Amino acid sequence: MLNCKEIEEELTALVDNETTVFRKLLLKFHLFQCNSCRKLVDIETKLKSLVHAKATSSSASEGLRKKIAENLKNTPN
Ligand SMILES: [Zn+2]
Repeated sequence: MLNCKEIEEELTALVDNETTVFRKLLLKFHLFQCNSCRKLVDIETKLKSLVHAKATSSSASEGLRKKIAENLKNTPN
């Protein structure tokens, strides 16, 4: 069984669809029962589209990601 830490580590791969079907199933099963990881996936998905839309360099996108992540985390559910 995966824990939240492992989910966090695989989040980018999950969002980018770069994980195996088996890992994906484990991740989805965890997300099914874990609200906070569902929110993380949601944030990561939003970040991905925003960064893709706006980033011009990797350093800029890293700063942007952090900024957006902070904003999203501070937004109440
Ligand atoms: Zn979790």
